[in-house]
Amino acid sequence: MKPIQVTRSSMPAFEEYMEEIKVLWESHWLTNMGEKHKLLEAELTHYLNTPNVTLFTNGHTALECAIAALNLTGEVITTPFTFASTTHAIVRNGLKPVFCDINENDYTLDVNKLEMLITDQTSAIIPVHVYGNICNVNEIERIAKKFNLKVIYDAAHAFGITVNGEGVANFGDASMFSFHATKVFNTIEGGAVTFRNPNLRKVLNDLKNFGITGPESVEYVGGNAKMNEFQAAMGICNLRHIDDEIMKRKAVVRRYRENLSGIKGIKLCQIQLGVKSNNSYFPVVFEDYKLNRDEIYELLKEHHIIARKYFYPLTNSIDCYKDRFNSNDTPVAKYIAERVLTLPLYADLALEDVDRICEIIIECQPNKKEYLIIPNELGRTVSNKIIINS
Ligand SMILES: *Cc1c(COP(=O)(O)O)cnc(C)c1O
Repeated sequence: MKPIQVTRSSMPAFEEYMEEIKVLWESHWLTNMGEKHKLLEAELTHYLNTPNVTLFTNGHTALECAIAALNLTGEVITTPFTFASTTHAIVRNGLKPVFCDINENDYTLDVNKLEMLITDQTSAIIPVHVYGNICNVNEIERIAKKFNLKVIYDAAHAFGITVNGEGVANFGDASMFSFHATKVFNTIEGGAVTFRNPNLRKVLNDLKNFGITGPESVEYVGGNAKMNEFQAAMGICNLRHIDDEIMKRKAVVRRYRENLSGIKGIKLCQIQLGVKSNNSYFPVVFEDYKLNRDEIYELLKEHHIIARKYFYPLTNSIDCYKDRFNSNDTPVAKYIAERVLTLPLYADLALEDVDRICEIIIECQPNKKEYLIIPNELGRTVSNKIIINS
């Protein structure tokens, strides 16, 4: 049986992509803000329903540039329950991450623990809409205003989500989106920054192009973070199908919920009121369940189903930071990270496969087809793994 991976990249039909890139053989314009780049930027401005979008070669450098563009200093309050990228972007800008705990309902920043972390060094808050769960944006905005802090959302998981009709890209001073191959919407690799103050456009555009501001002037210490035409063309194609893809994901998520709701020891994310989800991830928390998270992970693997321990380990305990931070300072994040598993989810995941995954989780039985029970010399039985099915 073919293994089921945690995700599978969405792709347009081969012919559709070929058609889209054909003109590049006429123009010979492959990167540096070409026609495809311009078109995708305009289309995303429309799709995300936000005034200001600028594209990047990936989400991580987009976040690094957003931080640089907002001139942050000193300390930045953030979450450890995220991909390494969020913390790295802060540290690589020479800033100090200060880790705030998460709440136990949707795993976003616990706004009740936020204010006590603010010092006279704090310049910003970088929360994460983790799994596409939307942060308490109103409370974060209120606190940011009160202490004169900037807010940049890591919205890598939140593409296209709306909250009471408002596009998620409109919260905070800026948001970063990732268009990596594994995300709901992809440009192979890619990303974008959306931002409130239109004056940021120029500096963001300069930062992604070596800080070059004119034919003979380089005003910033920029990098190279430009999205190329092939990436943009992939985005233009994928954007045509995005609503359909999200709808298919929704059916998968609904099936998971039907199968796994109400089972003792299995906790699913609360559905957020007013939020139109993009169904990007399906995290499950195993709390005093028959098997623990690591055992479920191994069991699924034995059945050739690859889940992911997102987000374990926390970024405040990954190798490069563990000597500087203590994950006991964020106890809820630590608790969830030790128990959470994100299950396979992509548009074309068959509902029968969802049922099978759930059945394995519910029954906790090893993959019998692959086990042959043979007696050992002492008369006891041991199980040797011999693959007898295909
Ligand atoms: C994917 C991801 C990123 C990085 O985006 P890339 O496009 O892969 O560089 C950052 N933060 C989070 C939470 C992510 O999941």
